Amino acid sequence: MNTDNQRPPSVAVLGIPFDENSSFLRGAAKAPDAIREALYSESANLCAENGLDLGVSNDWLDAGNVDPGEKADAFDRIEEAVSDIVSRGLRPVSLGGDHSITYAIVRAVSATHENLTVLQLDAHPDLYDELDGNRYSHACPFARIMDEGLIERLVQVGIRTMTSHQREQADRFGVEVVEAEAWHRGYALNLEGPLYVSLDMDVFDPAFAPGVSHHEPGGLSTRDVLSIVQAIDVPLVGSDIVELNPDRDPNGMTAMVAAKCLKELLAKMLSQTTQ
Ligand code: MN
Ligand code: MN
Repeated sequence: MNTDNQRPPSVAVLGIPFDENSSFLRGAAKAPDAIREALYSESANLCAENGLDLGVSNDWLDAGNVDPGEKADAFDRIEEAVSDIVSRGLRPVSLGGDHSITYAIVRAVSATHENLTVLQLDAHPDLYDELDGNRYSHACPFARIMDEGLIERLVQVGIRTMTSHQREQADRFGVEVVEAEAWHRGYALNLEGPLYVSLDMDVFDPAFAPGVSHHEPGGLSTRDVLSIVQAIDVPLVGSDIVELNPDRDPNGMTAMVAAKCLKELLAKMLSQTTQ
């Protein structure tokens, strides 16, 4: 824990309130503020499980929300905002937003970090070439990322909605898919750095995180996901938390799960700063 204010922050939280590429329900644009509200809720403290108190740490900052503007401009604006963070020597932790934003974020992060491995935690592969005529749908970001050769490896965990088209896409792109049925605590993902983690809140079983647009039973527990984050032992250069839909989260439970994951992602990244 750094309280001496001598070292500049190394991680920036960025809200991306954009949900116009959602295929079923809007609402994820409200998530960044809902996650912040949960993070600062008086019902809990700001300590991560490794003891880091995010309430007193000066090693991270909140960069506020991007204004995504018109839909046609949104990806450019998001990429620019993330590029600005990276150029300041900060590692971005983005709060979506629907999952389409990860394409724009990874464009920015991969410009600085070659050989990026992306760990995608998700019920869905998001590998459609297009959905409902939209190639930038939240069902497509990883097809665009792989099309453009932006990353070295894509490792997916928690998948339980594979279609034959997406299986073909996964094979074509060489995606490493660990379906929910096959995943277990301690599964060796053999991740390499630099690593980017993209956390889609529907990777959780809806029993743990009902506040998402696409309920997909049979998912991971909160503890499962925390164990994956806490086991990361390679440099984590960025992450995002997407697809929380506050309209489907009347008691705020899913926002609290997202805030818990945010705390653990921040703690992991900040622990790597001090090594
Ligand atoms: Mn997704
Ligand atoms: Mn999903």
